[in-house]
Amino acid sequence: MARTRLPMITASPGARITPAFATPDADWRSLWREAVTDASELLALLGLSALAAQLPPADAGFALRVPRGFVARMRHGDARDPLLLQVLPQLAELDVVPGFVADAVGDLAAREAQGVLHKYHGRALLIASGSCAINCRYCFRRHFPYGEEMAAAGQWRKALEHVRQDDSIGELILSGGDPLALSTAKLDELSRGLADLPHVVRLRIHTRLPVVLPERIDTAFTRWLADLPLQKVVVLHANHAREFDVHVDAACARLRGAGATLLNQSVLLQGINDAADTLVALSERLFAAGVLPYYLHQLDRVQGAAHFEVDDARAQALVDALRSRLPGYLVPKLVREVCGDPSKRPL
Ligand SMILES: *Cc1c(COP(=O)(O)O)cnc(C)c1O
Ligand code: SF4
Repeated sequence: MARTRLPMITASPGARITPAFATPDADWRSLWREAVTDASELLALLGLSALAAQLPPADAGFALRVPRGFVARMRHGDARDPLLLQVLPQLAELDVVPGFVADAVGDLAAREAQGVLHKYHGRALLIASGSCAINCRYCFRRHFPYGEEMAAAGQWRKALEHVRQDDSIGELILSGGDPLALSTAKLDELSRGLADLPHVVRLRIHTRLPVVLPERIDTAFTRWLADLPLQKVVVLHANHAREFDVHVDAACARLRGAGATLLNQSVLLQGINDAADTLVALSERLFAAGVLPYYLHQLDRVQGAAHFEVDDARAQALVDALRSRLPGYLVPKLVREVCGDPSKRPL
C-alpha cells in the first residue's frame, strides 16, 4: 500500500525503529496518572526538601504536574536544575509585572470556542486536546484550564467542516494542550475525517509528549502514524539537551520510522537555556536524535512568567553566537508570536 501521496522528506532518511529499544509497550496512561503533582514530594525525591519553605501557596494557582520519567532526568540535589526550574512553582510567579497579562496571545477565547484557529495562510490549527502530561510554568495554559477533551463532542466535525470549505488549507496542525493526550483510537477517528479532504496533504502534530512521556509513542500510535496517507511533521518541544535520554531517542526513532519529519521548538527561558553553550548543546542533541531545531520562541508575556523573560537584545546576541558556532541548519529561528501578524514575527 502506498503510504504517501507525495514524496516525503524525513530528517534522517532510512531511520527505522531501533531494535535495541523495542521493549514491550509500557502503559502510558498509567504513567500519565502516576505523575508527581505535589511540590513537596518532588523536592523530597530530589533531596531538596529544604526548599519546601520557599514554595508559593497553592502552587501559585497552576498545579504542579511532572511525569516521573522526566523527574528521573533531573540532577539530585541541584536547586538550579534546568528541568526542575521548568516545572517547580516559584514565589516569583505571584509578582504582578506590568505587561504580563492573563491572555498574552490575545485570541485564546476564540481558540477555545471554535477549537480551530486559522490565522496563517495554508495552515489551520486544531485545538485537539486541552490536557498536558506536564505543566510548564511559563505556559499561557496556566490561565486557561481548557476542557479536557475539546476535540470530542462534535468539535472535530465543525473544525473539519471549516477545513473542507477552504481548499487553500494544505496543512492541518494538531495542537493543544497536547494532542497526543488523546487516545490513538480518537486520533484515528480524526484522521478518518481527513480522508475526504483531498486538499489537505500534510498533518502536523505539535507535542511535548515524546520528550516528557516517551512511552506515549507506543506500537499502536506508531502504526497509526505510519499508515496515514499524508505527509507528516511532528514538532517537539524541548528546551534543554538534558531532556533527552535513551527513551526519548527511541520515541524519536519510532516517529521517524513512521515517516515523520521531526522538528523542535523551544522557548528562551532565563536561568534555564539562556546561554550560548546551552543552546549549542541543545541543537547538537536534537540532531543526534534526528530532530532539527525550528523555532526559538520569545516568551509569551503571561502573568506569572515574567521571571523567565530574556530581553530581545540578549536573545538576538545569543542567536548570533549560535550562528557563529553551528551549521546553519542547527540554528533555530528566533521569533515572537504577535496577535494579528500573518506569521510568527522574526526578531
Ligand atoms: C504558530 C502557528 C502556526 C504554525 O506556524 P508556522 O510558522 O507554520 O510554524 C499555525 N497556526 C497558528 C494559529 C499558529 O499559532
Ligand atoms: S502546552 Fe506545551 S508548554 Fe504548555 S504546559 Fe502543555 S506541554 Fe507545557
